[in-house]
Amino acid sequence: MRVGIAGCTGRMGQALLREVLAAGDCMVAAGSERPGHAAIGTDVGAAIGRTLGVAIVADPEALVSAADVVIDFTAPEASVALAAACARRQRIHVVGTTGLKPNHEEAIRQASARTAIVQAANFSIGVNVLLQVTRQVAALLPDAFDIEIVEMHHRHKVDAPSGTALALGRAAAAGRQVDLAAVADRGRDGITGARKPGHIGFAVLRGGAVVGDHTVVFASDSERLELTHRAQDRSLFAAGAVRAARWARGKPPGLYGMDDVLGFRR
Ligand code: NAD
Repeated sequence: MRVGIAGCTGRMGQALLREVLAAGDCMVAAGSERPGHAAIGTDVGAAIGRTLGVAIVADPEALVSAADVVIDFTAPEASVALAAACARRQRIHVVGTTGLKPNHEEAIRQASARTAIVQAANFSIGVNVLLQVTRQVAALLPDAFDIEIVEMHHRHKVDAPSGTALALGRAAAAGRQVDLAAVADRGRDGITGARKPGHIGFAVLRGGAVVGDHTVVFASDSERLELTHRAQDRSLFAAGAVRAARWARGKPPGLYGMDDVLGFRR
């Protein structure tokens, strides 16, 4: 499988380089960076101390044309451009970028009419199990339990709450058969008044090198249930993304999720 890695010098880009190079059935066919990045034209493997004989490109079309599958953990606008380029050339697109706005999501959905796209806010198996469990627990517990989602990430993360925290919020809301947008409290500050019944609250911590911690809290007057996932290493997400790429080979056009890849029933 010829893999193109978008954002190949980034934190996830480097984890993906290591994962793809270690996989017997994959090769790094291309790597890209944002236009103007100092690494354009240098070797794709340089960020991890390897020489692969392939130069980093800025043009998404050049990345896509060299690859069977593009793995993309970059930024929302970049992911939209890559989805369109993958659609034009019928290449598989694996998207891990978070912080997408509704217009970005819609553009990716439209591109998925022409090619297979696997999109997930989190490519770890543990978080995808947590999403299922959160939905079930929210459905089982009475509405008297308040739901709060706490996440912590490293100091460089640019979007908040994390895509995974929002996915956990959607899972809890689905369990309660409500729309997250109608009940989400995404930031409390000052005299907020008492907690609104039925709302789902988010709390965000940023610091150090934390790869990604998420806890879903269900709190009643007399007891508290907490579900926690801690990511130890980015290689976890890279391995999940490569697994998604393998799974998507030969699939018809469509927008798939990690639950499809893992064989969970929707
Ligand atoms: P990072 O800033 O270290 O890396 C992003 C890279 O993308 C950078 O090197 C940047 O220059 C590059 N980039 C930006 N615009 C580009 C463009 N137009 N073309 C090519 N490259 C471009 O960030 P990171 O920690 O690696 O995270 C990247 C994204 O992945 C974030 O949205 C993050 O939340 C998400 N993420 C998702 C998962 C998951 O499992 N889905 C896991 C970890 C991180």
